[in-house]
Amino acid sequence: MNPIAVVTGAQRGIGFGISSVLSQRGYTVVLCDVDEAGVRQASEQLPGSHFRVLDVQDFDAVAKVMATVEETVGPIAVLVNNAGINRDRMLHRLTESEWDEVLNVNLKGQFNCVRHVAPLMRQRRFGRIINISSASWQGNIGQANYAASKAGVIGLTKTAARELAPFNVTVNAICPGFIDSPMTRRLPPEAFERMMAKIPMGRIGTPEDVGRVVAFLASEDGAYVTGEVINVGGGMVL
Ligand code: NAP
Repeated sequence: MNPIAVVTGAQRGIGFGISSVLSQRGYTVVLCDVDEAGVRQASEQLPGSHFRVLDVQDFDAVAKVMATVEETVGPIAVLVNNAGINRDRMLHRLTESEWDEVLNVNLKGQFNCVRHVAPLMRQRRFGRIINISSASWQGNIGQANYAASKAGVIGLTKTAARELAPFNVTVNAICPGFIDSPMTRRLPPEAFERMMAKIPMGRIGTPEDVGRVVAFLASEDGAYVTGEVINVGGGMVL
């Protein structure tokens, strides 16, 4: 049986790129996303994959979806917490709901998934958890909510790594730099160009650039790597 990988926020962008790479490398991928039509369509493009409608903010829904994946697809070997949103605004204008929305999806969403999957991995003495953070975790103008959520992801990752290491479960974070996705294509052209100018390698990253690092961490080659924060940004953060 192929190992099973659950990827959240998988219908497009980086989540879909990660799902494609894992699928090519022999994983049975379960694509999870809030948008049913989108995630169904995405899954149709990856032979042998499954999909689930899932809002990662909903603690009980996450419990239910992870339980049905275990029952109907099989034991989850790899969890990729990728679902994320941004609501960028300068701090003096940022609203309470923009703060809550971003923290709920980006940070609580990852906690919800780890909370329900880690006990199963712990019991089986095997698992790989990969949390998608961001280069912005170190602070970025107009992204107080997003940066706080992504810094929180690093705290969650390092704590989970310490707790789960004795059970052969690794937990790592990836910080994408500037990656070609619907999220970055929404930026105004001047902001897009400003970001491009910060990349020493001179090209925007692809979702598959991130997917290949996920695949390494999920594989036997990454077995002794845990609690790490890996930049995938063409040198954007050095
Ligand atoms: P994206 O194109 O906006 O894709 C994000 C996906 O997450 C969408 O399919 C979205 O679905 C889904 N999603 C949103 N809220 C969700 C929820 N509550 N539950 C489940 N799924 C949800 O963004 P991306 O650029 O691929 O980003 C993927 C991850 O990488 C995010 O965590 C982001 O913060 C991080 N990241 C991206 C970059 C970059 O340069 N692109 C850089 C650093 C970090 P809907 O469209 O249906 O809402």
